Amino acid sequence: MRIPQFLIQQHPFQPHSLRRRRLVTAVLAGAVALAAAGCGSDTTGAESKIQVKPTFAAGTTMARLAEAGKVTVGTKFDQPLFGLKGLNGEIAGFDAEIAKIISAGLGINPGDITFVETPSAQREGAIQQGKVDFVVATYTINDKRKQLVSFAGPYYQAGQDIMVKKDNTTITGPESLRAANAKVCSVSGSTPAEKIKEYVDTSNIVLFDVYSKCADALRTGQVDAVTTDNVVLLGLVDSSGSAFKLVGKPFTTEPYGVGIKKGDTAFCHFIDEQLTAASADGRYAKAWESTAGKVAKTTPTLPTLASCS
Ligand code: GLU
Repeated sequence: MRIPQFLIQQHPFQPHSLRRRRLVTAVLAGAVALAAAGCGSDTTGAESKIQVKPTFAAGTTMARLAEAGKVTVGTKFDQPLFGLKGLNGEIAGFDAEIAKIISAGLGINPGDITFVETPSAQREGAIQQGKVDFVVATYTINDKRKQLVSFAGPYYQAGQDIMVKKDNTTITGPESLRAANAKVCSVSGSTPAEKIKEYVDTSNIVLFDVYSKCADALRTGQVDAVTTDNVVLLGLVDSSGSAFKLVGKPFTTEPYGVGIKKGDTAFCHFIDEQLTAASADGRYAKAWESTAGKVAKTTPTLPTLASCS
């Protein structure tokens, strides 16, 4: 049985009274005793049932969510390996696992997370309007977005790449797109849709709201290439039944952050702590290996976290 991290760590948002420390010690001792006896739910990491609720300073987002015992998370629903809604209604992928790690730190079980679909162009709005408590959705941290929302993390670093049909030999990188007069598909409101304008005339750029529509357009020959982050494309290649391939030359860096309300510095620090703890105790690697790592063989390490201010 894994002992929830909040039982082990003194949390900076918890009151540091001796009484609390004694309570934590007592609960921890109980948890260890249970583990030694082989009792309790013997699942790993984020899947563990939370048995003791953490407490947080009044007025914080953490206190509100922990008190509610549930959380609403914005993610992608059509991106294999990162966020894919299955027939059973569950969201599978690395982003969903990161959301579970954060929620576990709030004392919230995976079953009490409501995932809401946030396509690329809708993420800032969903956060600003309070439709979601946070967003984990292959969401690149950048200055333009930081005008509207704040980010914890990054928890992963991707890079923009290009996907083509398996037999395509003319598209070899972004520089080859103009000469090939290629129609290139991406998604509105995404960083790759902006970046690709440097390489392709706007009349040759096709934008949809989600990447699965780009994959369909590539399959049917309506476009010649799809561009977005390499790991997003990797999921589409993997689910294409060998119909597509990655060009394999990333030409940007895309640090993935957890989107939160602008200026919620305490929540940013809290999320960063959960990521750091998960990286240290193996839950981060396990989250990767059980999702994206099934296709992308190299398990990443947690990138250096950005400042929360
Ligand atoms: N990471 C990029 C972005 O945030 C592309 C992937 C996406 O659209 O979710 O815009």
